[in-house]
Amino acid sequence: MENVIKCKHCNGKNFIKKGLRQTQNRGKIQVYRCLDCGKKFTNDEGFYRMRNNPEKITSAIDLYFSNLSSRKVRNYFRRHLEHNSSHVTVLDWARRYTLKVHNYVNKLQPKLSGQYYADETEIDRGKVNDKFWCCVDWETRFIVDTHYSLTSNIEEAKTFLEKVKQKGKPKYIQTDSAMFYPQAMRKVFSSHSYHTTYHGEPRVKHIVNNVHKTGRHNVRIETVFSKIKDRVDDFRGLKALWSAPILMAGIVLQHNYIEEHTTTGKVPCELANLKLETGQNRWLRLIRLASN
Ligand SMILES: [Zn+2]
Repeated sequence: MENVIKCKHCNGKNFIKKGLRQTQNRGKIQVYRCLDCGKKFTNDEGFYRMRNNPEKITSAIDLYFSNLSSRKVRNYFRRHLEHNSSHVTVLDWARRYTLKVHNYVNKLQPKLSGQYYADETEIDRGKVNDKFWCCVDWETRFIVDTHYSLTSNIEEAKTFLEKVKQKGKPKYIQTDSAMFYPQAMRKVFSSHSYHTTYHGEPRVKHIVNNVHKTGRHNVRIETVFSKIKDRVDDFRGLKALWSAPILMAGIVLQHNYIEEHTTTGKVPCELANLKLETGQNRWLRLIRLASN
């Protein structure tokens, strides 16, 4: 997946180089003239008109989602770089590029094992507790999908499972014994005690892990949740409702596409067969891919 240069006025791909333009923060950039519409353009690699260079912006995002608060990222820059950026700017970058990359990767087709673990957890947002729903594929540790809601009930469970279903048919989904899962599983996946349909196709199995009976928690998903919750504890920006789901999506991107999983030693997207050739600065490469 290369970053294809095209005219930003007409999407034309016929152009000639037309010298360099000096920018304040991104060095010299190539200017092109489009041979289809005649206008000049520069290649938008995702950082058009940003007042800081891409390396600084992407390291801020990476540090922030690796569990450094926006204030700590600001302080780090203050100690190491000439120009300071406020903690609000750091948060703005995190949100802006999370949305961009999220919209891009959402169209990709990860190859998953189909052994899913789904659960919901509370997100402490000051006076209220929101619900964060998460479904993890076991072999790849890829987060299949998530859902953010104010309460947990059958309707929200269905919305969550519908999103999961969009990504393909799993072999089974394991949940805890919360009341709303069996009904939501029947509605969305027609899960049933009969293991095949009338046509003999296997149904998506719903495995219920009843902690009170088995004495064991849903450990497989809890390791992912505890990592996510560690980060949320330091998310002061989550106090704003509009901001919370975006930043949660950023944590999911960091998990799926940026960091190597401690057990598998691989980034989940690699195990899910998504060859993004993301190189060393993975956020930078993802933003460029998303900007095509
Ligand atoms: Zn053009």
